[in-house]
Amino acid sequence: MSGTEAQGPRLRPTLDGIPTYKPGKPASADSYKLSSNENPYEPLPGVLEAALAAAGSFNRYPDMATTELTAELAARFGVPAEHVATGTGSVSVAQSLVLSTAGPGDEVIFAWRSFEAYPIITQVAGATPVPVPLTAGEAHDLETMLAAITDRTRLIFVCNPNNPTGVAIHRGELERFLDAVPSDILVVLDEAYREFIRDAAVPDGIGIYRDRPNVCVLRTFSKAYGLAGLRVGFAIAHEPVATALRKTAIPFGVSQLAQDAAVASLRAEDALLVRVEALVEERTRVAAALAEQGWALADSQANFVWLRLGDRTMDFAEACARAGVIVRPFPGEGVRVTIGEVAANDIFLATAEAFRKEL
Ligand code: PMP
Repeated sequence: MSGTEAQGPRLRPTLDGIPTYKPGKPASADSYKLSSNENPYEPLPGVLEAALAAAGSFNRYPDMATTELTAELAARFGVPAEHVATGTGSVSVAQSLVLSTAGPGDEVIFAWRSFEAYPIITQVAGATPVPVPLTAGEAHDLETMLAAITDRTRLIFVCNPNNPTGVAIHRGELERFLDAVPSDILVVLDEAYREFIRDAAVPDGIGIYRDRPNVCVLRTFSKAYGLAGLRVGFAIAHEPVATALRKTAIPFGVSQLAQDAAVASLRAEDALLVRVEALVEERTRVAAALAEQGWALADSQANFVWLRLGDRTMDFAEACARAGVIVRPFPGEGVRVTIGEVAANDIFLATAEAFRKEL
């Protein structure tokens, strides 16, 4: 019996400083969930059928190379199949990107507040997060992000449009930024909400990455395509980066259900984009109503809106919960509210109106 017997296993000290990822609260029978930027529509019948057909063989491992999905994505975006790397949701692809570029002593720059996984996956890799505050207009401060680059910087996340503020970067500003970033630093354009953009000045990252070997685009099937529960995301990147992603990904991370549903979704894209259009129309309606109520709102190009509420954040989130909608509070900062079903959006708007009058 040694004296160390009572000690548990030694865990990496770096984990002490890392919060666990906090998912939005699940919906209950008497509430709508507007806290995780999900798609409120149920799966299309054809997509559901494809997933159910794959379920019959889940005693087998999936196709590890995601061959059919990769080919379908390559054709859809006009890129070589070698440039496509898939993963268990885009968050796992983002993690693979960090693991591929950064380790202890290295730095990863991102705007803050932005997608909450960025600091977590950076620290899990042992690297140092470098958060750069958003501008007063809730946008990326690209000048300050450039100034934050050091010779230890290995990766920069640019979330376009930004989660949770919804603000998107325009072409000229993004291109000037990319021109100024040293070419040995990987820039990840996280376009999880790409399909909801209606501002023509916001560039498509896939057009941008082509001539820039240090730029990679991150996309997901979780939002516009409505496959959040199946976990499929992908990156479009030049070959060295895409190859690194295949090395750092969890083997067999995308189930056959997910692969087949994603392929079926790409084939049913027209029907899915009609739903996206309806959500964008709802976004326009919600934003106009909030402005009418007197809220100062940043222009959201995503499937959510952001209310900066400061120290009233939790009060607002609780008022929403009492009214039957679960929203996503960031204590002391603000509330992010997903655009959902019309009835859910109406409850949110009524709560916002009542709350506004009290302010
Ligand atoms: N990037 C951004 C900006 C997100 O908001 C999210 C989901 N909240 C993700 C990536 C990850 O999505 P998923 O893992 O479901 O593809």
